[in-house]
Amino acid sequence: MKSIGIITSGGDAPGMNAVLWAAVKAARFRNMKVYGVINGYQGLIDNQIIELNDRDIEGIIDRGGTRLGTARCAAMLTREGQEQAVQNMYAHGIEGLLVAGGDGSYRGARDLTALGVPIVGVPATIDNDLGYTDNCIGFDTACNTAVDCISKIRDTMMSHSRVAVIEVMGRHCGDIALTVGMVGGADYILVPEVEYEKPFDIDNVVQRLSQNRQFGNKSGMVVMAEGVMYEHKNRAELLGQMIVERMPQLDLKVNVLGHVQRGGTPSARDRRYALQMTERAVQLLHHGDTGRVVGIKDSAVMDMPLDDALAVKKVLNESLLRLAHALGQAI
Ligand code: ATP
Repeated sequence: MKSIGIITSGGDAPGMNAVLWAAVKAARFRNMKVYGVINGYQGLIDNQIIELNDRDIEGIIDRGGTRLGTARCAAMLTREGQEQAVQNMYAHGIEGLLVAGGDGSYRGARDLTALGVPIVGVPATIDNDLGYTDNCIGFDTACNTAVDCISKIRDTMMSHSRVAVIEVMGRHCGDIALTVGMVGGADYILVPEVEYEKPFDIDNVVQRLSQNRQFGNKSGMVVMAEGVMYEHKNRAELLGQMIVERMPQLDLKVNVLGHVQRGGTPSARDRRYALQMTERAVQLLHHGDTGRVVGIKDSAVMDMPLDDALAVKKVLNESLLRLAHALGQAI
């Protein structure tokens, strides 16, 4: 393959720019041309495609967000939209695509693969919700950002002997909540995977908070993923109210971290993953070995068929769950 296109798609993730940087560098190493697609699949359908060179990637390796832009694209769900995307791509002489995104972006890639487009996927989503890979680009940075916020909230909670309810991102996947809840020293962590099996019992949350008070803690902290009680818009407020109804003596504050978790300078780890996985993706495209995704397993880069990757169910990390229990951080 002599010419490839690169798309950043779905929710933005810190490290997507490092993917772009590495794609241009790795392609040049193999004398391949690289085209950037603006705003995800929408740009492919709207024919917003530009050739990229070194000037376009200078200084972006450490920048958050994605220089190409990203979008949620409804037209990509239609056959007409997909056919238009393919037509535009070939009109530019693009022979294959590198798609960086999450599971939705991978499903779009699968549809394009069915239309004959050679594609390699790179996992980039702060949610870390792709089961076939240990790590997605953006997750580490999002966790670092959330932990930084949690530490700051803890300072003030301790000073005032307060309890905090902190909501972090994660609609279906509790990886951010579990990780930052644990390393942030939370008393209780609520994740959607556990809630799907059995709705959480507020009395257990309250019992853990009051036990820890009896053990001498002045402050307290409950970390919840946004996917818990997702049907309620103000779910963190609601959880706070439920706790205070049962522990009226508590001075409780609610914090929803929100989009701050998406931004910021990508961590060294996310950048390293971006470079490692993107280089492999460009190599695969160059050899025409497509319909595949790259990932990280046991700290090494791997690749596998896209269909097989999408079939792997994402589950919570068992050993982390056991560790949380052993440290008295109820889940
Ligand atoms: P994140 O989880 O970080 O938000 P994502 O890639 O899962 O990333 P989505 O919004 O789910 O984000 O998907 C990105 C885009 O992929 C969608 O806007 C849509 O254009 C396309 N897409 C999603 N699902 C499909 C599908 N089943 N068929 C075709 N295209 C799809």
